[in-house]
Amino acid sequence: MKPHLIILGAPGSGKGTQAAKLISKGFKHVSTGDLLRSEIAKNSELGQKVSGIISRGDLVDDKTVMALLKANCDVDKVSYIFDGFPRNVYQAEMLEAELLKDKKTLAVYFNIDLSILVNRVVNRRTCGTCGEIYNLATKAPRVLDTCDKCGTVGSLKQRKDDTEEVVSNRLKIFKETVEPMLSFYKSRRELVEIDASMPEEVVFDALEKVIS
Ligand code: ADP
Ligand code: AMP
Repeated sequence: MKPHLIILGAPGSGKGTQAAKLISKGFKHVSTGDLLRSEIAKNSELGQKVSGIISRGDLVDDKTVMALLKANCDVDKVSYIFDGFPRNVYQAEMLEAELLKDKKTLAVYFNIDLSILVNRVVNRRTCGTCGEIYNLATKAPRVLDTCDKCGTVGSLKQRKDDTEEVVSNRLKIFKETVEPMLSFYKSRRELVEIDASMPEEVVFDALEKVIS
């Protein structure tokens, strides 16, 4: 079995885009952001609890997200790509102690100049039907508001937390938490770094090399 991949990177650094491509290599993608948004869409008790926090761009409490993650993956059967988890050292420790245990893992840091990310994120659009990720500035769909991949018309959605103000808060939180997390994985010799400012295909090539 391939190692479980933990993608560390700022909002907009391309984690979801690359994770979708890695599925073809036999990985399963789990995004805590997607899991939380699906609870909000269902209007579950958890969704109601986290909706305001997410719309402000703050972090949901560690134990709540850990419990959701545990309920949604079975790490014995398939190699996972963890996208959006961990967000701090405490979560990294919980991921190790409660889920991955002695399993082989590799953390990949998507290194990128944060100043370009607000622009990337405010232009992000996601197909509500198949999840394909677009960018109005750099990767627009061929036909306006129609998904190239699944063909659904009118399916491209903007996340509510992808506004300039909320992204700025999300980036601020990322800046405050990233270094200790990198040190955590570095000290375990489980960290590799990728230049995430390169075009999608170049980033993917780099990832393929890392996992081969
Ligand atoms: P994350 O999951 O890290 O928040 P996404 O994968 O959703 O980031 O990408 C955020 C936005 O940036 C999307 O609009 C996507 O199309 C765009 N994007 C992703 N990777 C790249 C890249 N390598 N170069 C330019 N734009 C990219
Ligand atoms: P993301 O889809 O990764 O950009 O996450 C969107 C939002 O979901 C974040 O801004 C947080 O509010 C929440 N979230 C996602 N993952 C986590 C996590 N691991 N810990 C705390 N909050 C999270």
